[in-house]
Amino acid sequence: MPAQHPKVVIAGAGFGGIEAARALAKAPVDVTIVDKQNHHCFQPLLYQVATAALSPADVAWPIRRIFRRQANATVLMATVRGVDTARRIVHTDAIDLAYDYLVLATGAAHSYFGHDEWADAAPGLKRIEDATRIRRRILIAFERAELATDEKERKRLLTFVIVGAGATGVEMAGAISEVARQTLATDFRRIDPRTARIVLIEAGPRVMPAFPESLAGYVRRTLAAKGIEVMTQTRVTGCDMRGVDLDHGRIDAGTIIWAAGVVASPAAQWLGAEHDRAGRVQVGPDLSVPGHPEIFALGDTAAAAYPDGRPIPGIAPAAKQMGRYVGRLIAARIAGTPSSRPFRYRHQGDLATVGRHAAVVKLGRMELTGFLGWLFWSVVHIFFLVEVRDRFIVAFTWAWDYITFQRGARLITEVRRDDRD
Ligand SMILES: Cc1cc2nc3c(=O)[nH]c(=O)nc-3n(C[C@H](O)[C@H](O)[C@H](O)COP(=O)(O)OP(=O)(O)OC[C@H]3O[C@@H](n4cnc5c(N)ncnc54)[C@H](O)[C@@H]3O)c2cc1C
Repeated sequence: MPAQHPKVVIAGAGFGGIEAARALAKAPVDVTIVDKQNHHCFQPLLYQVATAALSPADVAWPIRRIFRRQANATVLMATVRGVDTARRIVHTDAIDLAYDYLVLATGAAHSYFGHDEWADAAPGLKRIEDATRIRRRILIAFERAELATDEKERKRLLTFVIVGAGATGVEMAGAISEVARQTLATDFRRIDPRTARIVLIEAGPRVMPAFPESLAGYVRRTLAAKGIEVMTQTRVTGCDMRGVDLDHGRIDAGTIIWAAGVVASPAAQWLGAEHDRAGRVQVGPDLSVPGHPEIFALGDTAAAAYPDGRPIPGIAPAAKQMGRYVGRLIAARIAGTPSSRPFRYRHQGDLATVGRHAAVVKLGRMELTGFLGWLFWSVVHIFFLVEVRDRFIVAFTWAWDYITFQRGARLITEVRRDDRD
């Protein structure tokens, strides 16, 4: 009988899980990557699918294809439901998987702050399905406004509310403004899409709280120039299919998009482990779960910290660095050369775009805005796409859209009951 290799199960093929599996490519292990989707999604560009600039296949890739050349990796499409830490078994909706090492990289989901009943009226952006659903709603709103005979109803349909003014909310608001004021400007006869009202609501005192004040000021001015209303220190107290209730008033709206909060995947519950308020597993300096040196949590599902205790942000580079670290740590342990080096996160910078030649970039002390920032943002995002083919397609699509003001992915497909009020 050939000697059995140690079994490493990686739950989640997002940014963190993929890096962990790649770091184990040359190790004498059997890696099983289990994900509930058959594709890895590049979330930073999802808003472009939601606003018809890119197609789903430009920002997502079959996980099986990513690992086609990694002989020690098996890809399974199944949903993790729980972990038996005593017997070292992962329970999925399809099969049970035994492990010697377990990596939990199942990411995060939207948080409606205890109001999950708002989810249908105000979808968030996390998966490809979310992006195509939001795209459908935005495009249907314009179609129905063209059909509306009542002026009040027409105004409601042409009102778009985005809840949450972090990077995703700002990117969505900027892109919807461009759809209304540029892409669709001359496509309708009974309505003028340029009259669309776009409102960005933020409970905190300013937009882009993760960015310095100077860059947030630039973002706010750019949003105003694009005709976007920004309401800070405003709380949403209710969402339904016809609008949002605020702590002071109501906005009737045809489309509501939720970009306000995230909660970690239920990994902490599967393990019965300590977690923070966002549900993220409290991990030790080597990202292992206290009491379980064979289980690691990483990316958006882990509450990891800098040595001074500040939380490591829930962004793609952090998940990738954690994945690489955990993969190498497991390989070293199996090779009998365990390392006691703790995980150290290197923050490379923050970027966000507000739309056509407008972006903010913070790299150490360097700050970029405007066209230069936008160029830098575009190059970085193209560089990090998984497939070379998509780098060309996305670069070409952006160049074409830039010249023509068009967006090519404007199809309305699979209309569902909950897309109508
Ligand atoms: C709209 C949006 C825009 C963003 N923009 C940026 C940006 O510009 N820059 C940046 O750095 N970061 C950005 N982020 C954050 C970044 O995408 C996340 O920090 C990063 O994806 C976290 O990586 P992860 O590996 O922890 O989780 P994810 O990449 O979310 O991957 C989790 C994986 O686990 C799978 N999964 C979940 N539950 C289960 C289960 N029960 N069973 C099996 N599989 C499961 C999912 O299908 C998914 O494939 C953005 C996020 C969003 C939502």
